[in-house]
Amino acid sequence: MFSKGFFTYILIVSFILNSLEALSQRRAKETAKTEIAAPLMTTPKLVVGIVVDQMRYDYLTRFWNHYGDDGFKRLVNEGFNCKNNHFNYAPTSTGPGHASVYTGATPATHGIIGNNWYDKEIDKLVYCASDESYETVGMISDAGKMSPHRMTVTTITDQLRLHTQMKGKVIAVALKDRGAVLPGGHTANAAYWFLGGGEGKWISSTYYMESLPKWVVDFNSSNSVQRYKKPWNTIEDITTYVESSPDNNSYEGRYSGESAPVFPHDLPGLWDKNSQYEILKVTPFGNSITTDFALEALKGEQLGTDDITDFLAISYSSTDYVGHWFGVNSKEIQDTYIRLDRDLERLFKYLDTKVGKGEYTVFLTADHGAINVPAYLNDQKIPAGYLNRSEMQAKLAEFIKYKYGSAELIKNYSNNQLFLDHKVIQNLDLSLKEVQETLADELLSSSDMARVYTAYQMRNNEYTSGIPYIIQNGYNMKRSGDVLMVPKPGSIDYSKTGSTHGSAQIYDTHTPLLFYGKGIKAGSTSHRTEIPDIAPTIATMLGIAFPNGTTGKPITAVLE
Ligand code: ZN
Ligand code: ZN
Ligand code: ZN
Repeated sequence: MFSKGFFTYILIVSFILNSLEALSQRRAKETAKTEIAAPLMTTPKLVVGIVVDQMRYDYLTRFWNHYGDDGFKRLVNEGFNCKNNHFNYAPTSTGPGHASVYTGATPATHGIIGNNWYDKEIDKLVYCASDESYETVGMISDAGKMSPHRMTVTTITDQLRLHTQMKGKVIAVALKDRGAVLPGGHTANAAYWFLGGGEGKWISSTYYMESLPKWVVDFNSSNSVQRYKKPWNTIEDITTYVESSPDNNSYEGRYSGESAPVFPHDLPGLWDKNSQYEILKVTPFGNSITTDFALEALKGEQLGTDDITDFLAISYSSTDYVGHWFGVNSKEIQDTYIRLDRDLERLFKYLDTKVGKGEYTVFLTADHGAINVPAYLNDQKIPAGYLNRSEMQAKLAEFIKYKYGSAELIKNYSNNQLFLDHKVIQNLDLSLKEVQETLADELLSSSDMARVYTAYQMRNNEYTSGIPYIIQNGYNMKRSGDVLMVPKPGSIDYSKTGSTHGSAQIYDTHTPLLFYGKGIKAGSTSHRTEIPDIAPTIATMLGIAFPNGTTGKPITAVLE
C-alpha cells in the first residue's frame, strides 16, 4: 500500500515537472521568435573594406582630438569598435596581412608566409604577388606582372563573386600591388596599383583585363596626381600637434637632399633626388591619390548602384611608408593620420550621396602594427635594440662547419627562419630533427633571441595561446623553414631611424578593427578578436559561404 505522504510527493513532483515543461516550451517559442525576427542575411549595396597599412590601435586614441566627426570618429561613434584586435601569427608584414584579412585564415593555411620568401621547391626567392605569366596593363613596365596565384585559398571577395553568380562586382585599389591583388582574390573584376618613378599612373595586370577601362585612362591623363607635387606642410598648426615628438630629432629618416626631417618638406625641390613620383608614396598625399582614385572607381564601375552587393577593397599604403621613414612618434605620422581622417570623411560623404547612408557597410583594419623607434625607447630607459643579423649568421655558419664539417647545410635565412638543405643532411646521414634542435639551441644562446622553435615542434604540437600559438599560425608545413626564431621584444633588424614591423610581439599585432553601416550594431568590445575573424563576420552578415580556408569565427556582437 502507498502512504498519503507518497501521493502528495508525486503530486508536487508532477506539478514541478509540468511547470518546468511549460517554461521550457515558452522559452523555445521565444527563441524561435527571435530567430525569425533576426534577418537571415543583410544585403548592403556595397561593402567597403579598408586596410590602413601599419596602423597601430593607439593611433585612434592618440590623435582622437584632431579627428573630425565623419572620419574615424564616425566609425567609432556610430559603428562597432573591437578594441582588443590582434594579428594571431607572425611574420606581421603586408602580404600576409592583406591575405589574412580577406581569407579569414593565417599563413599556415593561405600560404602567403611573407612579402618575399625562399621557395623550397624552386630554390629561389619569390615575391608574394608576382606572376611572370602575366603582363602589365597601361604601361610598358614589369610592375604589372602580378596575380594572386600564391594565395592558395579563396577570399571573402571570391565568395561574394561565387554567391552572386559573378554579378556582384569586386574592385581593389592600393598604391602597393600586394595591397590590391590579395584583397581582390582570384576572381576580382579588377585590381589597380600605382606606378611611381617617372610615371605617376595607375596600372593593372593582364590577369584581370587586356586594356584599362576608359575611366582609368582618363584619370591617368588628367592632372589628378600631378597636383600633389607641392610642399608638404602640416594641415593644422604644428604647435597643436602635442601628441608627437619635436619635429627635428635623430630618430627620423630624411628624404634624399633634405638637411633636417622637418616641415615644410619641399617635395618639388626634392623631386628628382627621390625618384620623382616615388616621393608621393612617402607622404600623406599618396593616401589622397588613393582616395581620388577610389572615388573614380565608384563612379566608373557604378559600384553599389543596384541590389546585388558589390565590394570595394581599398588599402592605404602611405601610412606604412611614412612610418618606416619617420617613425611612429613623429610629427609626420601625426599629420599623415589627421590627413587620412579627412580622406576618409571625403570617402564616406561621397558614399552617402552616391550609394546612400545606411545602404553600405564598412570595415576598417590594418595589415600589421609597428614598433616605436628602439633608439628613442633606449633614450627613455626602455629596453630595446637592434639585432646584428650578419654577425649572428656568421657565427652560425662557423658553428655548423665545426659541428658538421659542412657549411652547405643552410639554404636560406629569411623572415626569421632558417631553411636547411634536406638533401645534404641526408647525405651526411644526419637526423633532420636533431639538426633542427642543435641549431635552435645554438641560436637561442644568442643574446638577441627570446625563443627558438623547430619545424618538428610546430608539426607535432597544437599550441593554443601566447607566442608559440602565433608562430604556429604563421608556420606553413609546405612553405616554411626548419628553425623559427623569435627575437627579444623591442629588438629589430632595421636602420636606427624610423619604425618597422614583422614580429610576433604585441606592438605589431594590436591593430584597429571597426565596423560601420548596414547590418552593424553600434557598440564596442574589449574581448580579444583576431584578424581572421573579419571575413567570416562579413560572410555571416551577407549570408554567404565562408572563404574555403577560414579558421576565424564570426564576431557575433558586431552584427544586428
Ligand atoms: Zn604593411
Ligand atoms: Zn620630423
Ligand atoms: Zn611596412
